[in-house]
Amino acid sequence: MDIGGLETVVANSAYVAARGSVDGGAAATMRDKKMRAKLYLPHIKQCENMKTTVDSAFDSMCVKQPIGKRLFQQYLESEATHKPSCELWKDMEDYNVSDEKDRKQKAQKIVNKFYDSASKTFCKFLEEKAIARVKADYTNIRNDLFKESEKQLLKHLETSALTGFKKSMYFLRYVQFKWLEGQSVNEEWFMDFRVLGKGGFGEVHACQMKATGKMYANKKLNKKRLKKRKGYEGAIIEKRILAKVHSRFIVTLAYAFQTKNDLCLVMTIMNGGDLRYHMYNVDEKNPGFKEPRACFYTAQIICGLEHLHQHRIVYRDLKPENVLLDDAGHVRLSDLGLAVELKPGKDKTKGYAGTPGFMAPELLQSKEYDYTVDYFTLGVTLYEMIAAKGPFRIRGEKVENTEVTRRILNDPASYSDSFSKDCKSLCEGLLEKDPTKRLGFKNDTCDELKNHSFFKNLNWGRLEAGMLTPPFVPDPKMVYAKNIDDVGAFSTIKGVVLDNKDTEFYNEFSSGNIPIPWQEEMIETGVFGELNLWPGNGKLPNDLDP
Ligand code: ADP
Ligand code: MG
Ligand code: MG
Repeated sequence: MDIGGLETVVANSAYVAARGSVDGGAAATMRDKKMRAKLYLPHIKQCENMKTTVDSAFDSMCVKQPIGKRLFQQYLESEATHKPSCELWKDMEDYNVSDEKDRKQKAQKIVNKFYDSASKTFCKFLEEKAIARVKADYTNIRNDLFKESEKQLLKHLETSALTGFKKSMYFLRYVQFKWLEGQSVNEEWFMDFRVLGKGGFGEVHACQMKATGKMYANKKLNKKRLKKRKGYEGAIIEKRILAKVHSRFIVTLAYAFQTKNDLCLVMTIMNGGDLRYHMYNVDEKNPGFKEPRACFYTAQIICGLEHLHQHRIVYRDLKPENVLLDDAGHVRLSDLGLAVELKPGKDKTKGYAGTPGFMAPELLQSKEYDYTVDYFTLGVTLYEMIAAKGPFRIRGEKVENTEVTRRILNDPASYSDSFSKDCKSLCEGLLEKDPTKRLGFKNDTCDELKNHSFFKNLNWGRLEAGMLTPPFVPDPKMVYAKNIDDVGAFSTIKGVVLDNKDTEFYNEFSSGNIPIPWQEEMIETGVFGELNLWPGNGKLPNDLDP
């Protein structure tokens, strides 16, 4: 073995070991004790001023932020009047992610306990109409059975429990955690493992947050290279969009910080490689996927797109290469560097962006467009998963981009026998050349698409909750990345001088910990539980004693 090969073997084994120890729920054993000790709650006096400035809007604090929600629910459970509402809340969430065969029984229990006026835990705040509808319908398996009730429950909690929560010791605990969340990290907090891939401005490495043991991917953007190649605008857009979206179908940004030479985006690590690799490189004699597998990935991609579009973001670069697998075989969208956010009051955008062979007709014709372009790229992606070639290319053919463009504008796609009737119909609906007729995002959802017969056997509720078993699980010992010396080095950048304006930009970029993913990490790795201690019998812990 040559030295380069050996280097890869050594790097792989360290990375595989770190990955494995985390999968086993043993993140704690991988922690660096010295760094873990830096995660502590301050005495409440130390963050007194934050009591009035902290984000305490109901929806954000009590519903969206995982630590806020936990503490709010602990408060509800401590108050006899709110206890049943909290139980109903948890039961409804449990119902939504339950297996179909258990749902009827679960619904029956909920109805008896909370919807029956004779029950001592009857929830009076539920409106008669909602009660009647649930009672009439609960024997049918439905994903939205409790949707209306949940809205009324949250409305009720906002008016009846928010004020009490803000006066309670649980809110003080929330303030302490928000203080800790606000303490930015730097490179000292992360241990780098092997390189996973190469981007335009730097490498992406596997890394581990030393204090919690959680593994992430660290995308580095070299400051000088960014400046030389005028990458500031794109970098800040990608960062802003990643920080704004929170979906299990899009890579999540957890930290943004800087080092002397780089800007760093610390994101969900996707160890399983990209869809392109799995389509063509795993079984080279049988490229592409069987329909059930393609169906699963397409459904997860749709959930990712729906989330982006609900946040007014056009992705523009959907393709198999940008869809990454995690350890379990679930997929997420990545590389949001070409995405754009539609400005308030503006419903369209312009501009040539994307990958040849994937771009929609309206974009190629320099017209104004919106989310429709992402459903065309979805059509190309689904087609390619089945046919193992793009709809506007012949396999193995070398073809000019102008010819591909001509075909996209003029030619229909042709479908082999590998396509079922349903799959072909979905592809045709997505590859529709007229954006107004194309399947896609309507009335703020993808419901029309989700109800297509191609997905008739899919439980969307369970898919959206991440509860479906993926059709393929990546090998935990396999490294789905190139050998280290094949990744390729960057040339050195000469003649770039950084000044105060650059520093200003870097500071804006390095905004620190992103609240929701940071809170998830604390909960998931057990740190939240270790820090959130209560002496019991309603007494105040020392750190909250004024
Ligand atoms: P760029 O926008 O500069 O092209 P990308 O975001 O595409 O950078 O990242 C470059 C490469 O790094 C990808 O092709 C992929 O191989 C790898 N990579 C990127 N993000 C992740 C991630 N979250 N997990 C694992 N590997 C990743
Ligand atoms: Mg890329
Ligand atoms: Mg990019």
